[in-house]
Amino acid sequence: MRFDETNLTAPILRAVAEMGFEEMTPIQAAAIPVVLEGKDMIGQAQTGTGKTAAFGIPLLQRVDPKDRSMQALVLCPTRELAIQVAEEIRKLAKFMHGVKVLPIYGGQDMNKQIRSLKGGVQVIIGTPGRVMDHMRRHTLKMGTVKMITLDEADEMLNMGFREDIETILKELPEERQTLLFSATMPQPILDLAGTYQKDAEIVRVVKKELTVPKIEQYYYEVRQKNKPEVLARLLDMYDPKRALVFCNTKKMVDELVSDLQLRGYFADGLHGDLKQQQRDRVMEAFRSGKIDLLVATDVAARGIDVDDVEAVFNYDVPQDDEYYVHRIGRTGRAGRVGTSHTLVVGKEIYKLKDIMRYCKTKIHLRPVPSVNDINEIRAEKLMSKVDELIAGGELRSMTELIEKHIEETDCTSLEMAAALLKLSMGEPATDASMENGLDMNEGEGKEERARLFVNVGKRDKIRPGDIVGAIAGESGMPGQLVGSIQMYDNYTFVEVPGEYAEDVLEAMQNVKIRGRNIQIERANHGGRTEGKGKRTGKRTTKTEKKSGKSGRGRKKEAER
Ligand code: ADP
Ligand code: MG
Repeated sequence: MRFDETNLTAPILRAVAEMGFEEMTPIQAAAIPVVLEGKDMIGQAQTGTGKTAAFGIPLLQRVDPKDRSMQALVLCPTRELAIQVAEEIRKLAKFMHGVKVLPIYGGQDMNKQIRSLKGGVQVIIGTPGRVMDHMRRHTLKMGTVKMITLDEADEMLNMGFREDIETILKELPEERQTLLFSATMPQPILDLAGTYQKDAEIVRVVKKELTVPKIEQYYYEVRQKNKPEVLARLLDMYDPKRALVFCNTKKMVDELVSDLQLRGYFADGLHGDLKQQQRDRVMEAFRSGKIDLLVATDVAARGIDVDDVEAVFNYDVPQDDEYYVHRIGRTGRAGRVGTSHTLVVGKEIYKLKDIMRYCKTKIHLRPVPSVNDINEIRAEKLMSKVDELIAGGELRSMTELIEKHIEETDCTSLEMAAALLKLSMGEPATDASMENGLDMNEGEGKEERARLFVNVGKRDKIRPGDIVGAIAGESGMPGQLVGSIQMYDNYTFVEVPGEYAEDVLEAMQNVKIRGRNIQIERANHGGRTEGKGKRTGKRTTKTEKKSGKSGRGRKKEAER
């Protein structure tokens, strides 16, 4: 079910769109109507399937913004979860004027919390212990609560919150809606439901048996910010003739498409916001080979029927096991070999392990290919083409030319072959664009200098002084703090102290330099390449090496 085809309120639809959600997850599609009807409910679906929005959306729709009292209470087992859930609900409430959402949890200053509560908060997300505290101090008035949700109910019981939860539930008005969300449904939960819910509807998203296609499946552990570069390396390494790249949101599809295009790949995107005509055009380009990378959301990809997809890339770990199977099922059709590649960030590994368990399939961990790997593979591929050519004969006219050249220039045939190889490989890949190439899976490092990319250069008749002036003038950062400036024909790299980077980036949005609209962003975000659109080999040439990178790398080593 698509969000824009439901009759949720406009502010919610707008928020959901901004969050990049396109289609409801199965638990959302099943739970939201039930909750909107005001019924008690038990919702069961595995982790990562969007349970927060499944209760958050209808909860918000039932909140009266004009009434400042607490109307909805959500209990979560831990502080982290309370914060996460509050954040998600806040995003969903972004366009609902007058609705306040507040997480309360242990460890946070009590007086500060009390002050925040005084302003009138309709939606509270709290841990049971802290909610009890406030209840006893009467800083939370339970009498106005219309809706209570126990999120991760199984976890809360495992953690021994049963008594607290019961104490809280007993304080609530009889006339209320009680929701219980959980990944599992053990007996104690059903007992709790039996005592504190009325005619609860049980909504379970049970999984179908799925057959996983027999293709090689790999995953890579990466950091979020390195994803574009890792994908680029995998594309260079495997060099698939046709590949599908899956993202979880429309927004990510758009972002990734422009990133890939900047890197010189022939890529386009497909998602639900496109008109039928645009979709048809993209699909036609993909079928005919005008583009060889199609970036899509799960929903948009559903209609796709292209047979010779050589590889599937999961840029995001799919929301749902079933999606995983659908995604990778796009390759290896009609007896062809196919591979699938999944990028995994941090805790997503648990999700992937779930997928493996549930789909009874093995996904192999692979290291992210290094630049050397890529160059080697490129050379190997060329060599095997060379072998084919030699086997095919008919090189006579060529050998004559080479002989002639060797005689004239006194080079050896080995040198000649090496030079030709270099020519046909184009520029070798370099490490320039990986943010801390050495440091792919480590924690965040503190950034001393930030390198910014500005999309204007010498050709725009702009001088370094103009850029310094604009940065100092707009952001208030003293001009002398601007570090090295490297100006190229069409763009410029500027260094600023790391702690000013965000301010500068913000201040420089929508700024003109010498009458030109400029765009500024972190240089290493996208791994800029020159010659957008054309490409040598698979990928355009890197013209720019990150200076001082090795120095920073060493520093980080020393810090560890
Ligand atoms: P659960 O509580 O079931 O473990 P969450 O509510 O934490 O799952 O959701 C997991 C992730 O999925 C979150 O990042 C959330 O923003 C995202 N998400 C939720 N619903 C959708 C949707 N309909 N489309 C895309 N992403 C979604
Ligand atoms: Mg959850």
